[in-house]
Amino acid sequence: PLFSLAGKHALVTGASSGLGAHFAMILAEAGAAVTLAARRKEALADVAERIARLGGSAKVVTLDVTDAASLDALPAAMADIDILVNNAGIVRDGPALDQTEADWDAVIDTNLKGMFLVAQAAGRAMKARGGGSIINIASILGLRQAGAVLPYAVSKAGVVQMTKVMALELARHGIRVNALAPGYLDTELNRAFWETDAGRALIRRVPQRRLGQLEDLDGPLLLLASDGSRFMTGAVIAVDGGHL
Ligand code: NDP
Repeated sequence: PLFSLAGKHALVTGASSGLGAHFAMILAEAGAAVTLAARRKEALADVAERIARLGGSAKVVTLDVTDAASLDALPAAMADIDILVNNAGIVRDGPALDQTEADWDAVIDTNLKGMFLVAQAAGRAMKARGGGSIINIASILGLRQAGAVLPYAVSKAGVVQMTKVMALELARHGIRVNALAPGYLDTELNRAFWETDAGRALIRRVPQRRLGQLEDLDGPLLLLASDGSRFMTGAVIAVDGGHL
């Protein structure tokens, strides 16, 4: 089948919670052997156990994408990689005039430099294997403007351009580089915000008039991970219920 990942190996960063844990489950369900990477070993082990219970195959690698020494573990973890879901990311909200240098550094180091270094390690491993698919997790906040998330928005705009440039350079090696740009999602971490007046006002600006659920990302993820997208590279797919 077009979207089957049987026989493929996928590495998912930020797989200890949220989108990354969900992505890992979906890839495993489609038949991929997954490697789960993040800093929290126990949370990763819980996700691996859930995947195993559903009959999937999962390994765990502890990794801090901002720490050069810990990135040394990547080449070994990626020796047989076909798919990278480059997902680890953080947010610091607050007005631009109140953001500190430490906020800026933390967000840019994780979301932009960290994503680049992981994509580069995957690109090198995939080049040696003759191909692969890299999926960078951007955000609609990297495509359109919203207040109170300046470093985050800049990091995600950077991820969009990194996707396009790496796609150009890596196409000759059979490597596709695409991005998913999720819109406003209903996740545990931000549920309280969506119940405020400001949150409800934002939801009214979404053409489909609702928040996204994690499951809304499954189809686009499987498309980019599988041969279904074999003639797509450098694409940024917004999964946002329509343009705001
Ligand atoms: P979570 O906070 O639930 O998950 C973030 C993940 O990244 C965790 O697994 C965390 O694991 C990992 N992580 C953070 N810092 C590092 C680091 N230095 N090294 C390795 N892993 C790290 O957030 P989400 O699931 O919401 O976000 C996942 C991605 O989706 C992010 O890139 C985010 O920008 C993007 N996104 C999210 C949206 C949303 O509405 N939630 C919308 C659009 C995009 P650990 O702490 O164990 O290291």
